[in-house]
Amino acid sequence: MHEFSLAESLLKVALEEAEKHGASRILRIRVRAGKLMGVVPELLDFAVKSLSEGTIAEGAVLELEEVEFKGHCRNCGAHFSVEDFWEVCPRCGSDEIDISGGNEFDLIGLEIEEGEIEDGNKGCKEDP
Ligand SMILES: [Zn+2]
Repeated sequence: MHEFSLAESLLKVALEEAEKHGASRILRIRVRAGKLMGVVPELLDFAVKSLSEGTIAEGAVLELEEVEFKGHCRNCGAHFSVEDFWEVCPRCGSDEIDISGGNEFDLIGLEIEEGEIEDGNKGCKEDP
């Protein structure tokens, strides 16, 4: 269950951001998570709730946006979006595919009592 460590680094970044903007309360946390991260939304939600207790992020709503990963066929060169690892190329049926993307875990926005913070991608993924 890596949701707890993800939630931990997510909250760290979120709290730092909020502090920079002088926020007294975080209302909403927006996250973009790639499918490769295998994040279970309910678990992440639970982890954020437990870890944010006693901080200004307590009670914040977590919004999770899932990002598909992309496949590239080495056989025919087709690009497509991939649902599962065991997928084959939709054009030629080859299993010689490269999968890219889908392993991001970024804080993409915060809603604080004083307004909104939308200054882009704050990577908060664990080091591999
Ligand atoms: Zn192909």
